[in-house]
Amino acid sequence: MTDETPTTGATGAAPHPNANPDEGATAASPTVAPGLEAAARHATADLPHTPEDQGSEEAVRRKKRDVPLVAVVTGKGKGKSTSAFGMLQRSWARGYRCGVFQFVKGGKWKVGERKAAEALSASGAGGTIEWEIQGKGWTWIQKDMTESEDIAKAGWGEVKRRIADQRYEFLLLDEITYPIAWGWIDVEDVVATLAARPGFQHVVLTGRNAHDRLIETADLVSEVVNVKHPMAAGIRAQQGIDW
Ligand code: ATP
Ligand code: MG
Repeated sequence: MTDETPTTGATGAAPHPNANPDEGATAASPTVAPGLEAAARHATADLPHTPEDQGSEEAVRRKKRDVPLVAVVTGKGKGKSTSAFGMLQRSWARGYRCGVFQFVKGGKWKVGERKAAEALSASGAGGTIEWEIQGKGWTWIQKDMTESEDIAKAGWGEVKRRIADQRYEFLLLDEITYPIAWGWIDVEDVVATLAARPGFQHVVLTGRNAHDRLIETADLVSEVVNVKHPMAAGIRAQQGIDW
């Protein structure tokens, strides 16, 4: 009996099930959709980059389709940070230099994702991941700060420096919505800093109650709705699921 399995091309090789349909596209669309100015800036670029690249100026190593995004994951349901960590892994897999700033007091118990990130970064199989934790983890703080507001502000100050330095292609600002909501970090400063960020930098912000200005100005906003959570039945946080 002959094999009648259909083939998809001259080589007979089936596309990978996860193949990106845009992959291999040769010509950019002649019309530039609104908001794709950043893509136009990278239009002449098609060189891969490596984790050793530092301070990418106008990113001559970008592919045409690459657009740096600001994403917000908010809402009352569980899954905001884990969604962001999923994007972090994808960025790592693409060789990006990744940074994580956790704007949470007592975030020490959230060790699972950090452990995974350290192992990934050390493996050398993808990009790099630098991980900063609020409080004592803000290693650049010189003086002994005790006020949460000052600590959060110091963290944001460092984020701004690193954005200006183009230290990362992927930056996760985990739980930053809280210090913004409390007025510790000025939302207009955040919006302006993100809007003016140079080069190619994806930035993902997480946390409940994202400020309206973040939602207005981000390229991607997802809200996680709480349908049911075991906490309501008195079940405590579970390792492997919550940390
Ligand atoms: P995760 O890090 O698991 O993706 P998250 O970032 O969406 O959670 P956070 O507000 O950062 O949610 O809260 C983190 C912790 O609080 C997690 O242990 C999570 O299970 C728990 N949590 C999240 N949403 C709820 C909820 N609706 N009710 C009770 N606990 C919740
Ligand atoms: Mg979270």
